[in-house]
Amino acid sequence: MNNILSFPKKIARFESSWLLFVKALLINEINTNDFFSIINKLPIKITPSCFHWWESHQVDLPVLARVLGLPQLTIHQAFIDCLISSKYCAGDVRIRHCPLCIDHNYHSTFFQIPWLINCPWHEIALEECKVCSSLLGGRTMEKVKSGDSAKNCSHITSLSNSTFPIVTLPKKDLENMVQWSDATTEWLRKVQSLALEDIWELMSQPPERDWNRNAFLFFRFAEQEIGMATFDIPAPCCEVKYVLMDSYSSHNYDSVVDEAYREDLLSSFRAIRRYFFNRFVRSHKKCFNIIRRLDVIQSSRLDLTVCCGCVIAYFAWMMAYSDFFRVGECVGKIGPTVEGEDLWDKALWRKSKHEILKLVYLKFNDIWAALELNAQRLPQCSILVVYKNQIRINFLKPTNFTFFSRQTPGAPQGTIRYYCAADDFLQHRNTLRCTSRSGNVLVLTDKEYYPDFSAVSLAPSRIFVLADRTKMYKTLGYINV
Ligand SMILES: [Zn+2]
Ligand SMILES: [Zn+2]
Ligand SMILES: [Zn+2]
Repeated sequence: MNNILSFPKKIARFESSWLLFVKALLINEINTNDFFSIINKLPIKITPSCFHWWESHQVDLPVLARVLGLPQLTIHQAFIDCLISSKYCAGDVRIRHCPLCIDHNYHSTFFQIPWLINCPWHEIALEECKVCSSLLGGRTMEKVKSGDSAKNCSHITSLSNSTFPIVTLPKKDLENMVQWSDATTEWLRKVQSLALEDIWELMSQPPERDWNRNAFLFFRFAEQEIGMATFDIPAPCCEVKYVLMDSYSSHNYDSVVDEAYREDLLSSFRAIRRYFFNRFVRSHKKCFNIIRRLDVIQSSRLDLTVCCGCVIAYFAWMMAYSDFFRVGECVGKIGPTVEGEDLWDKALWRKSKHEILKLVYLKFNDIWAALELNAQRLPQCSILVVYKNQIRINFLKPTNFTFFSRQTPGAPQGTIRYYCAADDFLQHRNTLRCTSRSGNVLVLTDKEYYPDFSAVSLAPSRIFVLADRTKMYKTLGYINV
């Protein structure tokens, strides 16, 4: 059997696998099932319903190159998991088009990255298309070929109207596209060399989703190390640093924390508290004195637009390690006070005092970063609730700002890097806002505060509620301490 199909020899760089498959099927007298049975990577048998156009491992790449008469490199550039060598299998991937590109029969491999919001060379927002997304599944393609275009979108009109569709972008656009695509490939490969993380896995979901563990922090760190990304990462801009830690697995569990160790840990905790106070809070003495005197009602209607994240984070952090729920209660106390909770729990699991104290430090940093950067992170969020979580799961919430990478090239095995916002960066932003605040008003007035949300102050676990008076009070964000 001769497997060679008709395919245009003139091909642009980084044409996506979706585009290659669609063109191959449109041009040739072959149905989807037969086409897949040719390019199948045995022993997996792919059918239209389980075919993932974005996964290179489903396809016999040398065979695909041969049947389309294309160089291996072209095939390689069509799959994102080949470009940045990844083993990650993304779930459902939607086709997104730049309206101008697809009018000229072009769809880029990079359009698959959800972090890419705009077409990099036309600067138009990419639009998701359901019809194009399901074009390669079921019998859709057969319908398109038979001229049953009732359910079609206009995206593939130009592709299906020409007998031999090729990319018709103007020369200038093509040049820009090639330049950007090469630079992006290079940048992503450099990012990959910074950690043993699967870069494609980290970028396969929009950055605001929580399960990717605030991966944007790692990419901001990468920007500091290797230069700016070739596209705008749709996540907060911040300076990033990392803290090195041992993995949990290297420690054993003890059923009791002995008294000497307990005292030692407690005095170290106090030292950290003094350090935070002297290094950060002292320069916000005015804010500190206002916030320490707030009553329950006032704490639940703070003005997010002028808030002093540093002092609020300091109190929230203190309360995280105490059995207090209100600012007034913990002023002047030493904390931590809850037996068996959080700090002591970690003490049981972790032998190393340093490790525990690093986590204690990171918690303060994380709360502060959440207060400083949340408006950027969740632009739709107008009310931010700082609450004391009974379960105390940390670092996995979308409002948290810590990313840990278990693997680091060259680092001893089991080492974890915790990426977090740089202190100086947080302090700088915070101080700018505090010094430009007119008057001492941190609390919203009755008139400014939307009464429906007074309910948020009732639950005992809510420590602070901050509202953005410039927005409609609609959505809540949470900082879990
Ligand atoms: Zn475009
Ligand atoms: Zn479409
Ligand atoms: Zn301040």
